[in-house]
Amino acid sequence: MSAEPEAALAADVPPDVTTRLMSEQAAFGAVVPPIVQTSLFTFETVAEMEAAFADPMHRPVYTRGRNPTVQAFEAKLAMLEGAADARGFASGMAAISGALLAFLKAGDRLVAVRHLYPDAYRLMTGLMERLGIETVFVDGEDLTALADACDGAAMVYLESPTSMLFHLHDLPAQIEIARRAGALTIVDNSWASPVFQNPLSLGADLVVHSASKYLSGHSDTVAGVVAGRTELIEQINTLVLPSLGAKLSPFDAWLLVRGLRTLPLRMARHHASGLEIARRLADHPRVATVHHPLLNRTEWGSLTGGSGLFSFAVDGDAAMARQVCDGLSLFRLGVSWGGHESLAFPAQLGRTQPGVSQPFDVFDVPTNLIRIHVGLEEPEDLWRDLDRALNAA
Ligand SMILES: *Cc1c(COP(=O)(O)O)cnc(C)c1O
Repeated sequence: MSAEPEAALAADVPPDVTTRLMSEQAAFGAVVPPIVQTSLFTFETVAEMEAAFADPMHRPVYTRGRNPTVQAFEAKLAMLEGAADARGFASGMAAISGALLAFLKAGDRLVAVRHLYPDAYRLMTGLMERLGIETVFVDGEDLTALADACDGAAMVYLESPTSMLFHLHDLPAQIEIARRAGALTIVDNSWASPVFQNPLSLGADLVVHSASKYLSGHSDTVAGVVAGRTELIEQINTLVLPSLGAKLSPFDAWLLVRGLRTLPLRMARHHASGLEIARRLADHPRVATVHHPLLNRTEWGSLTGGSGLFSFAVDGDAAMARQVCDGLSLFRLGVSWGGHESLAFPAQLGRTQPGVSQPFDVFDVPTNLIRIHVGLEEPEDLWRDLDRALNAA
């Protein structure tokens, strides 16, 4: 693990925000930046107000636009991803839809990798299709197919490892193909977190996170963030944020700043416990396959470590996978991931949500698959729980 993320966490956010947020009048020297829980900011004179309108980065006007606690989170995340700037959103999906809608218009083509996050798939095949934006899905491992699809595309959406089956892609090669085609690239980096992968350093234009996962780390926040170079973030800022309005709230930003303090420590633990559990599952007689992007690989590509999220198929059918899930006690059943707690999600449930398009069917996610999140608990306790549930099924 590189020392850079820790250095970025220790570094101050830019002085314009920090100075005001931590000034003695504002916070009495509090070690934790305050939550600036206000909708609007007031002024003494029209001239002062006029100056704030001209430079809202330095002087907030209204929280839907700028808020100091939100800015503190955005500045830290930008540093962690090596970005010039970042914007917080009310959810990961708000960040993804905001970043795509800021750059795509009717008639444009988006290229996306298969096995992407299911709600991103639903956005592309639902709302975006209605708006006249076509999405072509390609196997991210097939670089020839990717190059063909990129010809004439406006934007390329990447995610490595992918959701549910955790395919590891050659991200630098994918980005280079998109760049040569003149398409803007965006990478969902939620799985690796900025601790284990930095897509901008590989040439990507934008990086997006569900901050509800590892950035928060405590399963108490729904949030998202987009980072990139100044002019791209500025376009998101002017075209999307004020009008769609899915802005990150000050309280959620405060929880994220709290979460980021332990990000490298948590990720190191998820990495070690996750790989250990994956290795033991691979040797278990009742397990057919383990889908962990780093398992049995000496070459990790653009990743410098792994997180706690992966999946395995039981040596049996969907009913057996269901029994294994029901037999777990320390692992709780739940969606989402990235918090302190270990979770299991039976993939067969991804096929039974009524009224929505079914990426699990389209992408052939097997029904005997169980996705697990290995949390921060004692790994031996977690293994006992899994081993017992597998042997009982
Ligand atoms: C959860 C998730 C999202 C969506 O984030 P929300 O905060 O739930 O809106 C996007 N991408 C990935 C990979 C995710 O796991």
